[in-house]
Amino acid sequence: MQPDVLITNIGELLTLSPLAMEKRANHVKQADLGILKNAWMKIKGGKIASHGTGTPPELAHGGILCDANGGLVMPGLVDCHTHPVFAGSRAKEFCMRLEGKTYQEIAEAGGGIKNSMTATRAASEQELLAGTTSRLGIFLRHGVTSVEVKSGYGLSVESELKQLRVLRAAAKKSPQHLTVTCLALHAVPPEFKSAASWATEAAEKLLPEVAREHLADCVDAFIENGYFSAGDARPFLDAAKKLGLRIRLHADEFSESGCARLAAEYGAESADHLQFASDSGTAAMGKAGVCAVLLPGTSVYSGIPYTNSRKFVEAGCVVAVATDFNPGSCVADNLPMIATLAALHCKLKPAEAIAAVTYAAAYALRIHDRKGALHAGFDADFIVHQMESHESWLADLGRHVPQQVWIKGQRII
Ligand SMILES: [Zn+2]
Repeated sequence: MQPDVLITNIGELLTLSPLAMEKRANHVKQADLGILKNAWMKIKGGKIASHGTGTPPELAHGGILCDANGGLVMPGLVDCHTHPVFAGSRAKEFCMRLEGKTYQEIAEAGGGIKNSMTATRAASEQELLAGTTSRLGIFLRHGVTSVEVKSGYGLSVESELKQLRVLRAAAKKSPQHLTVTCLALHAVPPEFKSAASWATEAAEKLLPEVAREHLADCVDAFIENGYFSAGDARPFLDAAKKLGLRIRLHADEFSESGCARLAAEYGAESADHLQFASDSGTAAMGKAGVCAVLLPGTSVYSGIPYTNSRKFVEAGCVVAVATDFNPGSCVADNLPMIATLAALHCKLKPAEAIAAVTYAAAYALRIHDRKGALHAGFDADFIVHQMESHESWLADLGRHVPQQVWIKGQRII
């Protein structure tokens, strides 16, 4: 039995309870942050039991009392799009880009995803696990308590399975909640003549094994010129659906590839990037309940346009924000910094930006029945900052790490 925990002397408590109560993460307004001033919060059995303002309730014998020292308490952050399992470095390619080469030109010269593929295929499971665990530890230090993690640097049946086993092993070791995604369609492996032939191989040989060993929760595909067309991906997505694997997609990042519409057609949980999503695709996403995941770190690090959030907000989409942490196009692992960049450059309002890395991000992973809000019955995943308010947190650009990080009612940091 876990002891009860009582957090007292909270200057500002961000509950996001109004969203959790309605199980809604779109059309986020300031009131949806569910702010309590001079508050307390009680935790029972690792779950939020209650919160309120004024005099805190009694704490049972043996319970843990924790003074928040007048600081800010908010839900643990949710990073709903990352690529943390890889080997090797792509620093040289970063400098190639500074010399004027484009992402596609670097890929054609053997760099990009295939560079990471070569190093990742050569690495042992132990090496990959050590790297992944260390990266998850850095996410945790920034207050991230739930993470979506993708494979996609293996690009062979055997090597994708190795990456997914590493991610499942990382999930066992890490205190964080991990949602595991099989991104087999990240690039066309050099052994295959066409995108369609690898997609078919992945559909017929890889996914049945993924499902049999329960190695992933979701699948993902990079729908883009030079990678996979919507048509190429269909056999893979059809197979995933049949096997009960959920769908997320890398969509319309460099050009309009019809992916927003494809995401709607397949009932994907999220379509991510979306710089060039068409208006009809955006409307279809809104109707089908596909979350829009914005990744402004990639725009900062790769010099591509930012995604304007407004049309997704107006279409009724849930809008989440993630780091897209990966070795090539975005090495930013600081989700609070990315939330501020999203507010600035993707034109999110303050409440939208905060929800985008908490409840809306949990919604994008369909873990919003227990994560992303400090609501009665939810997992007690939260962070404590020595800051006055959520305004201070958003204006900070991720410079300060939280003093405390709690997961399921246990203090991890
Ligand atoms: Zn990505």
